[in-house]
Amino acid sequence: MVPGPVVVVGTGTVSDEIASLLLTWDLDVRRHVEPRERVSAVIACFDAISTPADLSETALGLGRMLKQVAPSGRVVTVFRSPDAASDPALRAARKGVEGLTRSLAHEMRAGATANGLVLAEDLDAGAPSVAGGLRFLLSGRSAFVSGQFLTVDSVNGVLPGDWDRPLEGQVAVVTGAARGIGASIAEVLHRDGAQLIVVDVPAAGEQLAATANRVSGTALQLDITADDAGERILAHARQHYGRLDIVVHNAGITRDKLLANMDPARWDSVIAVNIEAQLRMNRALLADDLFNRPEGTSGPRIVSLASTSGIAGNRGQTNYAASKAGVMGMVAASSAQLEARHGTINAVAPGFIETEMTAKIPFATREVARRLNSLNQGGRPDDVAETIAYLASPAAGGTSGLTLRVCGQNLVGA
Ligand code: NAD
Repeated sequence: MVPGPVVVVGTGTVSDEIASLLLTWDLDVRRHVEPRERVSAVIACFDAISTPADLSETALGLGRMLKQVAPSGRVVTVFRSPDAASDPALRAARKGVEGLTRSLAHEMRAGATANGLVLAEDLDAGAPSVAGGLRFLLSGRSAFVSGQFLTVDSVNGVLPGDWDRPLEGQVAVVTGAARGIGASIAEVLHRDGAQLIVVDVPAAGEQLAATANRVSGTALQLDITADDAGERILAHARQHYGRLDIVVHNAGITRDKLLANMDPARWDSVIAVNIEAQLRMNRALLADDLFNRPEGTSGPRIVSLASTSGIAGNRGQTNYAASKAGVMGMVAASSAQLEARHGTINAVAPGFIETEMTAKIPFATREVARRLNSLNQGGRPDDVAETIAYLASPAAGGTSGLTLRVCGQNLVGA
């Protein structure tokens, strides 16, 4: 969590509720700040706006404090969902908060970030995922998340007994865990208390065993494109743990070529690994009672790896971008099915992350990718892993169907 004073600005009732919540975390919470005093975070609540002219009071109040935000500080805007507003002026005002948040994120300096927490129309600010989302955005766990919006749609979710071990007692599967982002996801989920099943292709067996050892988990050598991949994961979980709570679809490949030169092997293998395998595994998981927690508990979680390529597109990656945009469509469309099990499904879209996959990119292109974002650096595998661990946690139960970018607000597809 941010160490120093947190200032809450805004005129609506949400700002009072958030200030009270932060006090329960023993933070130094302020409604005003002295000139030149350093602050770690500013939370700007825009819930009382009804037309764009109403933005100025809170926006300019926030602006006056920005020079006092410490390095690696945080700004979080809190507002109601624009999509829920049918009144043109109200929707314009709420969309206005999105615009100012994105632009402000580009103006932040020295590792500080700006993100939005978007609440459904009638959602009580006391909902577990409002607390969970705020904690995530105010912590070092969201270091490479900037200019993004975390939506809270429902009161679902459960606050953990111990914020440092939110996954205690849960069983998680991570595919593609032999190296890179997948290995980091396994490590962060383990730190958060989960028991791990790590999956990768037989050819990566040695590295997979090393990951399994590091996280005191079990290894399952499996090509996720196998027809029965979902069933084999379920059988392994049933045999070794008797439960399955979290599935992270991380395994992915690139086979870049301009579309004019694309061959069927490149196209088909990327679609098969990056999206068709996930769709098939989800069908198997959702058909099995092992992946269906009883009512009143934190439901099952699926988190899938998309990419900013699937959002912005990227030269040479038509196949990859098709697969990753497909992941975003899949999570949005699967949300209702998971909700019926009190669970969630979300995607994380990394930008440029320093791994063996991206080490293959020519040096000059890599250097451009590092510079073309608001934080002026590449991300690390644990930046992605921290966001996935939050979305997999009980506190995130009110967020589903979302794709959250972990990209330092980069300007190009990666
Ligand atoms: P990586 O190549 O370092 O690791 C991917 C792992 O997946 C490997 O261990 C590989 O053996 C495994 N894998 C591949 N095909 C598999 C299959 N059929 N069955 C089981 N395992 C399989 O990649 P990474 O950079 O760590 O990327 C992880 C995920 O994040 C991928 O989905 C990737 O598309 C996504 N991503 C990465 C970046 C980045 O900048 N590195 C950016 C956006 C998205």
